[in-house]
Amino acid sequence: MTDYVLDQHERPMKDLRISVIDKCNFRCTYCMPAEIFGDDYKFLPKDELLSFDEIIRLVQIFSKFGVEKIRLTGGEPLMRKDLHELVARLHEIDGIKDIAVTTNAVFLVKQAKKLKEAGLNRVNVSLDAIEDEVFQQTNGRGIKTSPVLKGIEAARDAGLEIKINMVVKKGMNESQILPMARYFKETGDTLRFIEFMDVGNHNGWNMGSVISKKEIIEEINQELPLVPLDANYFGEVASRYRYEGSEAEIGVISSVTDAFCSSCTRVRLSADGKLFTCLFASEGHDIRELLRGGEPDEAIISNLIKIWTRRDDQYSIDRANGKPTKKKIEMSYIGG
Ligand code: SAM
Ligand code: SF4
Ligand code: SF4
Repeated sequence: MTDYVLDQHERPMKDLRISVIDKCNFRCTYCMPAEIFGDDYKFLPKDELLSFDEIIRLVQIFSKFGVEKIRLTGGEPLMRKDLHELVARLHEIDGIKDIAVTTNAVFLVKQAKKLKEAGLNRVNVSLDAIEDEVFQQTNGRGIKTSPVLKGIEAARDAGLEIKINMVVKKGMNESQILPMARYFKETGDTLRFIEFMDVGNHNGWNMGSVISKKEIIEEINQELPLVPLDANYFGEVASRYRYEGSEAEIGVISSVTDAFCSSCTRVRLSADGKLFTCLFASEGHDIRELLRGGEPDEAIISNLIKIWTRRDDQYSIDRANGKPTKKKIEMSYIGG
C-alpha cells in the first residue's frame, strides 16, 4: 500500500539501492583502479556512514512511496560484518518484499547463512572471469576465482537465490564470455553480462572499450543457441534469454548501447546518506543532514516528493546522443 502517490510522474519509485560502505577488498580495474584507490586513498570515516538506525528510518519512509525492493551494495557491503543485523531489521518493515545484496562474494562463506536467516532473499555476485589469470588482473588484487566460487557455494547451501554479474570490457575479459556461459549453464545460475559503463571519472572508459549486447549475444548464440524471453516486470534492466533445451538463463544489461532511462525506477542512497536519482549524477541530495538535524519524517517526505517529481534524468540517452559529460560520482561510492 503506497501512502504517497507519485503517479503524476511516469517513473514509479520501486527499487532502493543503499551503499552501506565505500571501502572494498578488491580493486577492479573498471571500478576502483588501484592507481587511484591506493593505500593513501581517504575512504569515509565511520561516523560519516549512515548508521543502521538511520537506514531503517529512511527505508520506513521510502516504503510509504511504494519502494518494495532493497539492494545493499557498496564498496563491498559484506565489509560491514554485522550486515545480517541490518537485513533482519529491513525484513521487519511493512511493504519490503525483497532484499538483495550485490557482492564480490569473498565473505559469503562466513556470512551467507546468517544473512539468509535474517531474511535476505538474493545475492548478485560479481565475477568477471572463470580463468584465474584473467580474474587476477580484473580484480586488481591478484585474487583467484576459488574464494568467489566458494562464496557462491555457501550462498547456494544457505538457500539464497543467486545471479552472477560479469562486466565485459574489451581488452580485459572478452575471452571469458563463452567460458563463463559454459560454466554457469552447468550450474544453472543466471549469468548477466554488463556493458562496461562510463561511471565515475577514473576508469578510462571510451566507447571503443565497450563490447555491446549484440556482440555478446551473437558470440554465445553461435555455440549455445539462445531463445529470447519476456521481461519479468516493468523496469527490468536485463534483456533475458534461455539456452535452447535448458532452463538456464542469461541476461544482458545494455545501459550503453540500448538505454532504458524511461523505465528507470531506481533510487540510490550513498554510504554517507546522499540521495541520487541517477547513477551518473554529479551531486546527490543530502538526506543525512535532515536526519541528523532532527527533522521530522514529514520534512524528509516533502523533500523526497520534490526530488522525485522534479527528476528528469536520462543520462544514457544523452550519452547516446553525444551530449557532453560532466563530473560523475564514483561507482564504489554509489554502489551500482
Ligand atoms: N562490491 C560489490 C560487487 O562488486 O558486487 C558491490 C558494489 S559494485 C560497485 C556493484 C556492481 O557494479 C558490480 O556488479 C560491478 O561489476 C558493477 N560495476 C562497477 N563498475 C562498473 C562499470 N564501470 N561498468 C559496469 N558495471 C560496473
Ligand atoms: Fe569492489 Fe565491487 Fe568495485 Fe570490484 S566492482 S572494486 S568488488 S566495489
Ligand atoms: Fe536510470 Fe540514470 Fe541509468 Fe538512465 S542513466 S537508466 S536515469 S540510472
